[in-house]
Amino acid sequence: MLSTITRDLFDAYMVPNYAPPAVIPVRGKGSQVWDQAGKQYIDFAGGIAVTALGHCHPELVHTLQQQAEKLWHLSNVWTNEPALHLAQQLCKHTFAEKVYFANSGAEANEAAFKLARKYAHDHYGAEKHEIISFHNSFHGRTLFTVSVGGQLKYRQGFKPVPGGITHLPFNDIAALTAAISSNTCAVVLEPIQGEGGIIAADRDFLLAARSLCTRHNALLIYDEIQTGMGRTGSLFAYEHLPEACPDILTAAKALGGGFPIGAMLCRSHVAKAFNFGVHGSTYGGNPLACSVAAKALELINQPELLVGVESRHQRFIAGLTDINQTIPIFELFRGQGLLIGCVLKQQFAGKARQLLNLALEEGLMLLIAGPDVLRLAPALNIPETDIDEGLARLERAIQRFLANPDTML
Ligand SMILES: *Cc1c(COP(=O)(O)O)cnc(C)c1O
Repeated sequence: MLSTITRDLFDAYMVPNYAPPAVIPVRGKGSQVWDQAGKQYIDFAGGIAVTALGHCHPELVHTLQQQAEKLWHLSNVWTNEPALHLAQQLCKHTFAEKVYFANSGAEANEAAFKLARKYAHDHYGAEKHEIISFHNSFHGRTLFTVSVGGQLKYRQGFKPVPGGITHLPFNDIAALTAAISSNTCAVVLEPIQGEGGIIAADRDFLLAARSLCTRHNALLIYDEIQTGMGRTGSLFAYEHLPEACPDILTAAKALGGGFPIGAMLCRSHVAKAFNFGVHGSTYGGNPLACSVAAKALELINQPELLVGVESRHQRFIAGLTDINQTIPIFELFRGQGLLIGCVLKQQFAGKARQLLNLALEEGLMLLIAGPDVLRLAPALNIPETDIDEGLARLERAIQRFLANPDTML
């Protein structure tokens, strides 16, 4: 495209809160991406678990183009057909009875946390405002969401931060039982901690959280921003354990298949605490985002696609296990569906980013989840040939890494 647009411009003009590699991707199709120089990459990252149907899926492109010719924006002074249709579909296919639309994951969580506070305030009084969340959890980058999130590094330097938040060890039933009280308004968790290292909540922990919340009149909030929209093989991860159904669920990332949108789903009696004028967003629920998301939901929520997530999981694990038998570098693989964590052996701890950089040179886009874990979150419809080619490139990257594990890239 524009040969005058180069990576140097990032350092010259962009706030330095990101550190992108030297190459600039310019085009994507399915699970393949090309950079400015025409080099091709296999995409095992999917943005960050966002492009669940691959890049430029023809039906999403068509839907976006159609809507772009019709209506872009009205504000929430009016409602619009795509938002109403998407809300109806989300309620039809989940436990939820009401939906609030935002533009990102953090905003969906912000709405969820505010709603939990407001609901408790309205029903039980101002004392009931404590939020319980868990170490290593990630809920977004606004001030409230970094405060609820369980990673100290994301809130350092931003004090004073919102209070009334308790962080507990994840999967620790005894700690939760001891900490929850009549002052708890919500317990917030990710069914599988994504940024925190691909760590699944135990079945018993989820059941305990559900019953403790019910007993203490606290709301159970699932942050399914990363685990939702087919990622684990069901539309949302809570469906694997319906007995531990949440009261509020947040979605974003793959919800729009790459177009920005977030949503907060909840039951009617909870929704009522957000009465007229209490919360809002200019762009939330806009026609462009909602029409694309409704199409993504329709395409993802099909038995063949969801079954395909499980078979692709098997293919990934088989291929990774094969690689690991010849060149042992991973301690174990964890996660579910197409959210896979490859945990580096102790002697390679802290080197995940180095491996990611080598993979990029080999033509493979990966993610990490903390310094010790490679994370794969590819499109849910990634072709088997792309899985195999991507794994071959990963193997080459690992060989180069083992040849010189101390090279700093
Ligand atoms: C990515 C993510 C968020 C934040 O979403 P943004 O769209 O970046 O604001 C929140 N929670 C979880 C679990 C996520 O993976």
